[in-house]
Amino acid sequence: MNRREFLAATAAAATVAETVAEAAPQLAVDGGVPVRSKPLAGPNWGPQYYDEKEQVQLTEVLQGHNPFRFSNPLERSKVGIFERETAARMKTEYALGVTSGTAALHVAMAALEVGPGDEVILPAWTWYSCYNTVIQAGALPVFAEIDESFNIDPKDIEHRITPQTKVIMAVHLQGNPADLDPILEIGRRRGIKVLEDASQSVGASYKGKPLGSMGDMGIFSLQQSKTITAGEGGVVITSDAYLYERACRFHDVAARPGFPSKLRFMPGLNYRMNEFTGGVLLAQLRKLDTIIGDVRRNAQRVYRGVGDLPGTRLRHRPDPAGELGTGIFLGFQSTEERERYARAMKAEGVPVASPGGSVILPAVPEIEQKVTVTPRWPSFTSERGKAIRYGRECCPRTIEILGRFAGVMMNPKYTERDTEDAVAAIRKVYPSIVKA
Ligand SMILES: *Cc1c(COP(=O)(O)O)cnc(C)c1O
Repeated sequence: MNRREFLAATAAAATVAETVAEAAPQLAVDGGVPVRSKPLAGPNWGPQYYDEKEQVQLTEVLQGHNPFRFSNPLERSKVGIFERETAARMKTEYALGVTSGTAALHVAMAALEVGPGDEVILPAWTWYSCYNTVIQAGALPVFAEIDESFNIDPKDIEHRITPQTKVIMAVHLQGNPADLDPILEIGRRRGIKVLEDASQSVGASYKGKPLGSMGDMGIFSLQQSKTITAGEGGVVITSDAYLYERACRFHDVAARPGFPSKLRFMPGLNYRMNEFTGGVLLAQLRKLDTIIGDVRRNAQRVYRGVGDLPGTRLRHRPDPAGELGTGIFLGFQSTEERERYARAMKAEGVPVASPGGSVILPAVPEIEQKVTVTPRWPSFTSERGKAIRYGRECCPRTIEILGRFAGVMMNPKYTERDTEDAVAAIRKVYPSIVKA
């Protein structure tokens, strides 16, 4: 049976599924004909959209002979224009370009006045930078479990709050918004700031609002694996003038004059974005809605194509309209079942991935051992810092959930045929793994 016949047969079978048992096609893993001979390519976002728009920006910077942002008048600086257009797109008052997502998190820690003695609640599954920047601030990281959205579980936050809790870090992983309403409510009620890390979800939204714009501050990474990119890059967004000023000062060794407040000095670092990066990111930002429109269209085709499969358990999505569709993740009863699905899908030429791009941080041996820059580092010297235990035991639910899911990763440049193949492979393999 060729691919078209297979699709036709599947469609026909679906209409009479109630009365006629569908003859199961032989899986490629058992010697049958694979859905695709050439495997589906896998994810790759912004760089695929590079064209003369980025080239013009770079050429202008070269010809201007002023690659340092502050050598240019504010209205002509590439970084300045990028920041203004980012703030407009993300519906915040301010945006600050920095050198990376990690830099953005470090700047946010300083802006939010996180320091020794403070605690920051963050999900057990996220990127190293989230943990490392809390440590760099001298504060104590406190892990919360994730739920089936793969993001911090709002129900696992409140009992972890102490009088020292300064910030809740809500991270929006793999294109899927964290369930922000209950998190923001906890923050407001308990007087704790909320920082959104939308590094893996640039352009996504929650109930119509851009991710990053709803907490006290938001950050993005613009590193190559993210939605839009100049290879490296980051942004801090906020609508709070004081937090913005603190962020500006910290990212520029406190040198920049021109702010109205009395805050003149802060021993900051240098995380300034240069004009080449700003130019490329400006061109990329102007394509953001095209890129996420493309990937969402492709993801919708797959969601629609598998929506009627009996027994499917999708990754939880607090706002399906707002997510990017980075991957179409299906849940299984066990890791063993997930692995059988992965093997069979790979044989069909449609590889699937476990939840990726993050780390189960408390299970990292050096984190479990509380390794810091020096043993005298303030993060773990308090009574509470000495008492806190990391390791796999502190996040059993996170480990359990991540072990059960696998997803076909989306790419904005997939053709209709690519997404049809993804649907065909899932429809072929899934029923053989999960009995309805
Ligand atoms: C990528 C990423 C970062 C760090 O960004 P860099 O630009 O690589 O420094 C931070 N948080 C999350 C969730 C990320 O995915």
